[in-house]
Amino acid sequence: MSEQNRQPRREERSRNAFEEAKQYMPGGVNSPVRAFKSVGLTPVYADHGTGSRIYDIDGNSFIDYVASWGPLIMGHAHPEVISAIQETAVKGTSFGAPTLIETEMAKLVCERVPSIDVVRMVNSGTEATMSAIRLARGATGRSKILKFEGSYHGHADSLLIKAGSGVATLGLPDSPGVPEGVAANTITVPYNDLESVRLAFDKFGEQIAAIIVEPVAGNMGVVPPAAGFLEGLRRITVEYGSLLIFDEVMTGFRVGLHSAQGRFGVIPDLTCLGKVIGGGLPVGAYGGRRDLMEQVAPVGPIYQAGTLSGNPLAMAAGYTTLKLLNEEVYTRLEELGARLAAGFEKNAKELGVPVTINRVGSMVCPFFTDQAVTNYDVAKSSNLDHFRAYFGHMLQEGISVAPSQFEGMFISGVHSIQDIDDTIEANYNALKAL
Ligand code: PLP
Repeated sequence: MSEQNRQPRREERSRNAFEEAKQYMPGGVNSPVRAFKSVGLTPVYADHGTGSRIYDIDGNSFIDYVASWGPLIMGHAHPEVISAIQETAVKGTSFGAPTLIETEMAKLVCERVPSIDVVRMVNSGTEATMSAIRLARGATGRSKILKFEGSYHGHADSLLIKAGSGVATLGLPDSPGVPEGVAANTITVPYNDLESVRLAFDKFGEQIAAIIVEPVAGNMGVVPPAAGFLEGLRRITVEYGSLLIFDEVMTGFRVGLHSAQGRFGVIPDLTCLGKVIGGGLPVGAYGGRRDLMEQVAPVGPIYQAGTLSGNPLAMAAGYTTLKLLNEEVYTRLEELGARLAAGFEKNAKELGVPVTINRVGSMVCPFFTDQAVTNYDVAKSSNLDHFRAYFGHMLQEGISVAPSQFEGMFISGVHSIQDIDDTIEANYNALKAL
């Protein structure tokens, strides 16, 4: 079993820290899901991390599958990433002038992501999708966008309609503060439902600037694209002169060296990136065809800028992380993912707990339902009481997963076979205790 022989989780310091934090930050946190509200527990206050593990301020350690919500594909505090940040930091943290590392980074992204000829760095996934939407609207002269129910594309107004991730976790209706006029320009249809997309285009096709889609949905739990779904989106957008935007903030360099578009062989017009490309520092990016991207300022009239965009520290961490990735790493991630999923499946079967495991590469999600999970409606029908109890047991077992049924687990290239087997054992104990 894992490191501590499973003492009950100590949490006094975390509890005190959380109480103090609540006096100064909304809900005590800087991003809602960190507050563990949906599972009713004290958040894990991270102290440090190394490799596949995190250590909290109470001295507990956990095998970690949150991975900072996806970025840490090579684990916590990877020595090469840390060295790159240190070497860069001593030369200065930000200049607001071009640096060589920005071109190196852009070149690498353009080489590896099939749809990207030209790329612009920003500071978060939200900025990436928001900017890509503006570009799509500017380039097509159209206002409407189509997104999928339960997909999360960051918290920009137009994308916060029927959103997944934390919005789903907290069971929130569409957010107050999004003007009606903005919401009216967002069409939502169920994921994996080409027929609904077709109907929406029959009605509004000439007004739709773009479809934005997670090529593997990762914010309603993990939901793979059905056979032909992404191809269908490509066909329909071409037919109507709309753009296809792949939001690969989560899947980019997560599900393959050439991201989801390489894995599934469908090439969008624009791609959004984030998470992995920042190596744990704040980075996002959007890129695509040259004729589109050169409509962005200063070449073209569509404005988008950033004081810290292309920040040297973030570029150093991201570039070093991307350089660590190769086909061997993805083969290993695939093997670890398959082993974890098979172990979970076996446990659920043996214990007679209704669980459906979805997996794409190193993104794994056990849903507490016996139905095939192909969209948000099915995901939502999962037994959330089971999830809550399961989550608590997993923490006690020394395993850190996201505190939500609507998030996946992220395996890193530094998880060991032993980590995976310990996690399978913990999963058995957690399911048994339900
Ligand atoms: N798009 C997707 C697919 C995401 O998963 C996320 C974050 O989870 C975002 C966009 C927003 O990224 P950020 O949190 O960096 O703004």
